[in-house]
Amino acid sequence: MSRPDRQRSVCPHDCPSVCALEVEVLNKSTIGRVYGAKNHSYTQGVICAKVSRYADRVHHPDRLLTPLKRVGQKRVGVAHDPADFVPVSWDEALDTIAQKFEQIRQTEGSEAIWPFHYAGTMGLVQRDGLDRFRRAYATSQQHSTYCVALSDAGFKAGTGVKRGSDTRLMSKSELIVVWGGNPVSTQVNVMHHVAHARRHNNARFVVVDPYRTKTADKADLHLMLKPGTDGALACAVMHVLFEEGYADHGYMAQHTDRAEDFRAHLATRTPEWAASITGLPVQKILEFARLYGSTRKTFLRIGYGFTRSRNGAVNMHAVSCLPAVTGAWRHEGGGALYGNSDIYKLDKALITGADIHCDARVIDQSRIGHALTGNESDLQGGPPIKALFVQNTNPAVVAPDTRRVLAGLAREDLFTVVHEQFMTETAQLADFVLPATMFLEHDDIYTASGHTHLQVGRQLIDAPGECRSNHVVLQGLARRLGLEHQGFDLSAREIIATMLSSSNLPDFDTLVESGGIDCKPDSFQEANFHNGFQTPDKRFHFAPDWTTVGSHVEGLPEFPDHWAVIDAASKTCPLRLVTAPARQFLNTSFSETASSRRMEKQPLALIHVDDIKRYALHDGEPVTLGNELGEVTLLVKQFDGVQPGTVVVESLWPNKDFIGGLGINTLVSSEPGKPAGGAVYHDTAVWVKAAV
Ligand code: SF4
Repeated sequence: MSRPDRQRSVCPHDCPSVCALEVEVLNKSTIGRVYGAKNHSYTQGVICAKVSRYADRVHHPDRLLTPLKRVGQKRVGVAHDPADFVPVSWDEALDTIAQKFEQIRQTEGSEAIWPFHYAGTMGLVQRDGLDRFRRAYATSQQHSTYCVALSDAGFKAGTGVKRGSDTRLMSKSELIVVWGGNPVSTQVNVMHHVAHARRHNNARFVVVDPYRTKTADKADLHLMLKPGTDGALACAVMHVLFEEGYADHGYMAQHTDRAEDFRAHLATRTPEWAASITGLPVQKILEFARLYGSTRKTFLRIGYGFTRSRNGAVNMHAVSCLPAVTGAWRHEGGGALYGNSDIYKLDKALITGADIHCDARVIDQSRIGHALTGNESDLQGGPPIKALFVQNTNPAVVAPDTRRVLAGLAREDLFTVVHEQFMTETAQLADFVLPATMFLEHDDIYTASGHTHLQVGRQLIDAPGECRSNHVVLQGLARRLGLEHQGFDLSAREIIATMLSSSNLPDFDTLVESGGIDCKPDSFQEANFHNGFQTPDKRFHFAPDWTTVGSHVEGLPEFPDHWAVIDAASKTCPLRLVTAPARQFLNTSFSETASSRRMEKQPLALIHVDDIKRYALHDGEPVTLGNELGEVTLLVKQFDGVQPGTVVVESLWPNKDFIGGLGINTLVSSEPGKPAGGAVYHDTAVWVKAAV
């Protein structure tokens, strides 16, 4: 039997790996299995299981296939009732939406309309076209804060730029530290590179994470600290590096600021001090510090998780200081990688409309609950939000402060349009639901954070039913609203071709055939900042000027520290909650897919046995977690992979999968982190009790 035709593509999901794929195309509308591209130097044939089963998602029986118009009432907390919607034609849907937008613009002003999006696809055309629409229509703009606002600020505070060591050089590393990530579950390729280094180079592997993840299970050393205390651990490690002779003073004299002041600052940040904050044994902190200090080629793979905290930017900056103290940047296989987004020099104006002047207000997306319920500070003196147009995200589940978000979405006077692949809980509250394509059904171009390739993905199969891409829907709306910009006139393929050409890059077909282009810096020395960091004085900053990465700098410490602004455990709320990603889901994507749901089973609160006893809970039975924002009920699982006082709920399950219908972000505050905003998903104090 002949092998099915395999076509190249790119994983579009919100994951740093941006894997190069080979997709079995069975006929013009059907795919088979999905594989990692073997000849891609980063992917190396390895992809996660959920994407290898992508046929389950593309051909899911619950895909939205026609535009739908609401005829029933908006109701929160009830199962979806198909009778609430009737199918309509695309023309009727887009004509009505455009008329309604215009009516709102004329009566309330264009800022009363808020197009809202995030990273359901990471393809630049289909993700960021909404930026162009916002600017062209002068609607409320969006400050995107779900994911990287805190981590970007923290990393750039020291280095001045978001880029770092090449993951492929892990093959030369002698020590790999994954700090605040769980690549076995969320970025499996990293583990492939770790395994290679262990096998061929006898590399040691360390994980820093508040719970024993599947990645931590594989580590030689796991530092299982309390959530939000990473800055303290990093400071104590650097204290030891200075005090025990592991610091590279020559490197610091050439490449960093204020090394001696920093050393003096760290004098009191001893392992004993950090032990009292992190809950880690002093010996373990010493063991890690000495291992890091005595190894030349240390590769620090910095994740996002530990930065989603009120002190997250400070913690990220503290961790990013380690290789600057030891000079690990000097070595191939040494240094650090948080993300590589800044290596790409693309002119994206055709997509984003960056060339359109727009001074409309900018609203923090993590504050959507407050914005929709009329919080004056979030509305900044402007009109209330009267229309919401959502692509690529599911705020009813993803955004912090779920109860407030649902109250906003349920407003009968809010005109909501959701362009989606499935009837999500956000779509259930929409006035119009529009069926969206998946990545194999449209063209797009992809940069990466975890590697250095620029890749394109072609449309490989026909879209089912009447699904349309984000770009095509925006074109249809722009035409009806009279919006003018070249990006609305060109097809996705033409936008990509023009963008590649204006950025002096190979053309679309060449990128498809070659599997993408490696945009890595010219040399290892360049990648590892041997010619200077990207700060004004070219030095890594131990004492950053926080105003260069955000405007809310009040109280941020001068040097790395434990910044005690977290939602600390208290008498009322004695546990600290971590809402880590589940292996078979990716944010809310895949939570609709039968195979992923089967493997994840149900939402669980992972709680230490001491806490099970202390709070008279029973393994496997329902418990309620709560704080001033609300209550969430789910089953408890006894778990010795956390410190007492920490509870982990792997997510993101839809609200409806929790007993009582409210999901885990009910408990998460929408208070923005400093200095540039950012959702604080892992910075929540809660109480627990057996559910009645
Ligand atoms: S590891 Fe990440 S990028 Fe790769 S296939 Fe899975 S979700 Fe996509």
